[in-house]
Amino acid sequence: MNFDPAAVARSTADIAASLTALEWITDNRVERLSQDFYWFSPILKRQLDGLRADAVVRPKTEDEIRAVVGACAKAGVPITVRGSGTGNYGQCMPLHGGVILDLSAYKQLLWVKPGVGRAQAGIRMMDMDRQMQAQGWELRCVPSTFRSATLGGLYGGGFGGVGSINYGPLASTGNVLGVRAMSIEPEPKVVELRAPEALLLHHVYGTNGLVLELEVGLGPAHPWLEAIVCFDTFDAALEFGDALASAPGIVKKSVTLLADPIPDLLLQAVPPLAGTMTAGSHAVFVLVAEFSEPGFLQTVAQFGGTVTYRKTAAEVQASNRTIVEYTWNHTTLHAMKVDKGLTYIQSGFQAGQHVAQAKTMRKLLGDEVLVHLEFIRTKEGAMNCSGLQLVRYSTDERLNEIMQIHRDHGVYIANPHVYMVEDGKQGQVNPDVVATKMRFDPMGLLNPGKLRGWAQRDQIMADAASGKVSLTTLPRF
Ligand SMILES: Cc1cc2nc3c(=O)[nH]c(=O)nc-3n(C[C@H](O)[C@H](O)[C@H](O)COP(=O)(O)OP(=O)(O)OC[C@H]3O[C@@H](n4cnc5c(N)ncnc54)[C@H](O)[C@@H]3O)c2cc1C
Repeated sequence: MNFDPAAVARSTADIAASLTALEWITDNRVERLSQDFYWFSPILKRQLDGLRADAVVRPKTEDEIRAVVGACAKAGVPITVRGSGTGNYGQCMPLHGGVILDLSAYKQLLWVKPGVGRAQAGIRMMDMDRQMQAQGWELRCVPSTFRSATLGGLYGGGFGGVGSINYGPLASTGNVLGVRAMSIEPEPKVVELRAPEALLLHHVYGTNGLVLELEVGLGPAHPWLEAIVCFDTFDAALEFGDALASAPGIVKKSVTLLADPIPDLLLQAVPPLAGTMTAGSHAVFVLVAEFSEPGFLQTVAQFGGTVTYRKTAAEVQASNRTIVEYTWNHTTLHAMKVDKGLTYIQSGFQAGQHVAQAKTMRKLLGDEVLVHLEFIRTKEGAMNCSGLQLVRYSTDERLNEIMQIHRDHGVYIANPHVYMVEDGKQGQVNPDVVATKMRFDPMGLLNPGKLRGWAQRDQIMADAASGKVSLTTLPRF
């Protein structure tokens, strides 16, 4: 995969000059639009600083997308798809220049039926929810970046988030029902993939197909009460969080544990949080349905917590401020504002042992790893928690050692300090993902350099031909 930067820049300028009806950005905004939150990682910051596309294009219709894609394929220009650029592993940062295909203006909600909705990939999740909530439905899980992040971006680079406590990660069966995808060829083709094939383009950083539309399962939109509960001890906060998350009769949307000293960091970083938490405490951030408040308060009393913050759904809406934006990787974002020496890791505990494992890891790593846990269901439906622990960064070696200590204790790590698909959550080359790329991106133009398995494509196809590997059959274009 060799791209000549000067030739790519020239071809990109030619394409922009030939498609003048489209919105092109070629000024100094290109730099910002070539970045995401890669700087959460000191390692990625070093590796990816300075990457820049040659131009950004913001199409509004499928025909405009087709025109750009066809022109790039004819000229051999790399295409990196962008939603809102809130990914945090450099996912939408172009390693080889070319065109950033910014889908944020391709954003129609197409239809909503009971329990299912379909939208164009560039729709912001907050906008999609606002339009659907009037009909009583909302997205099953949203990242804490829901305000700006797109549905296509969550599918291409995300995992899940608020709501995953009920529905598991986005990849759980039934959450994604279908995607309409375009191939990267001189004459681009479009096909609808239904589940389970619809998941083949999920969390592969837009390397193996361009997603135009998504059809997703929806959940009932309840009026969500937001609360913070403070505890004197870590164990009480953890056991409360687990009990609330697991309580089948209490309808909830998220339960987040931020162990001491994270609440103090948030109090310093976010002035509006003043007075919402007791200094030196362990805090649990909660979204429960308003009608479930009595059960919630009963559980708080059982574990000796104190509710230090409470807002009804109407109050949240009126203030346009939600505690969701202090959870998931927003916790990392805010904490890094006051302590630039912090970074983070992403972990998954073993359902059933998660409480014991969380206690063990806290004891083992003491003050070097600050515990942040999100309660979620596994893909199989068991209650569990995943960690977005803050780490006091010293060296790359120590950071890797900390991740290894977690693995050695049976805690899964999705390394957020790498930009190759296989080095992160995916963990290994997936022949189906590579075969999907061969189908949708035969010239290797989509976000090149991020899919390790692409270099093994000939071997994978030979193994498939000899029956060593069995590949999923995709529908015809
Ligand atoms: C503060 C903060 C908090 C976060 N919290 C969460 C969280 O709670 N849960 C979570 O899962 N993630 C979280 N993230 C990561 C990220 O915000 C989400 O995954 C978000 O959904 C990404 O959406 P986006 O539109 O910004 O995608 P982008 O960053 O623009 O894109 C993400 C990836 O998907 C690809 N892509 C985008 N659109 C398409 C498409 N149409 N077709 C093919 N590929 C495409 C891009 O090329 C890129 O590789 C967080 C990040 C930050 C910085």
